[in-house]
Amino acid sequence: MSDALEQVVVIGSGCAGYTAAVYAARANLAPLVLTGAMPGGLLTTTSIVENYPGFAEGIDGTDLMIQMQSQAERFGARVQFGSTVEVVDLAERPFKLTVDGQEVLAQTLIIASGAGHRHLGLESEEKLEKKGVTYCATCDGALPMFRDQPLVVVGGGDSACEEATYLTRFASKVYLIHRRDELRASKIMAERALGNEKIEPVWDSVVTEVLDVAEDKVTGVRVKNVKTEGESVIDCAGVFIAIGHVPNTQIFKGQIDMDDAGYVTRVEGSRTSVEGVFVAGDCSDNVYRQAVTAAGMGCAAAIDAERFLAASD
Ligand code: NAP
Repeated sequence: MSDALEQVVVIGSGCAGYTAAVYAARANLAPLVLTGAMPGGLLTTTSIVENYPGFAEGIDGTDLMIQMQSQAERFGARVQFGSTVEVVDLAERPFKLTVDGQEVLAQTLIIASGAGHRHLGLESEEKLEKKGVTYCATCDGALPMFRDQPLVVVGGGDSACEEATYLTRFASKVYLIHRRDELRASKIMAERALGNEKIEPVWDSVVTEVLDVAEDKVTGVRVKNVKTEGESVIDCAGVFIAIGHVPNTQIFKGQIDMDDAGYVTRVEGSRTSVEGVFVAGDCSDNVYRQAVTAAGMGCAAAIDAERFLAASD
């Protein structure tokens, strides 16, 4: 880690962060990319990405991110793996960041910190995390504990449908528990999931407890039907929670404008309420949330940062 004054620091290494790094590097700004705890971002937790333009047959999410990283490095981006920003001070330029206990000074900052998995908020869910409760089918679905067992997926969006479909490779059966009677997922993903004979939708239902904390492993879920108020138990060996995301913007709270959900406000283009701080990707987008839109926003942020630096010279 350099304690020199950085021209551009990119926080995050998903599609937004790496695309910003490609553009900033090609502008000879030698950006420093702080990858955070999940290098490559959320796309590394997906399997095949079928809707990123340029890959007619689809591309593995992790492979795509490795390509983006290499592309950024080829032009001079410096990628700092595992580095998490602990403290940020945006009161004046250069901005001060504390990263792994060391200070980094930045003339401009591109926040591309992405979003993390939303939790149901149940005590039993937290207690059984990694003991059968998981937020990533592609990471954990193939574990021996889930093989030939009934599994539960919670959610009604594209992620839930994708995870449920993926899990049918290993599970004896997959229950897709959704709080409404209609999926939010895109038509193609919904049809793929509902057309799979191993997937049984459980409509109008919420998980009220993950069983069994006393046994220290997942044995089932207690489910309430929100229309009838009736309760039932579904036996399963794993619970895959896919109910959306929350922006990773906690460390900027109080220093930069954001909405009630924590999404950083874009003032004009990628500009934020703090001059010299730009934002891109899922941490500022609760509408599109696609790999390609995040990449586009990363590009815009790098161009805006470059122009800002040129104008301040
Ligand atoms: P999402 O679209 O926000 O869907 C979240 C789902 O979880 C919704 O069905 C929601 O129910 C449900 N939910 C939210 N909070 C809940 C709670 N506390 N308890 C129970 N259920 C809850 O999130 P996502 O599926 O992760 O998708 C995020 C974005 O990524 C979307 O833009 C999606 O298109 C994209 N994506 C694309 C692909 C692909 O194309 N390959 C794959 C994955 C994700 P309601 O419907 O009732 O609100």
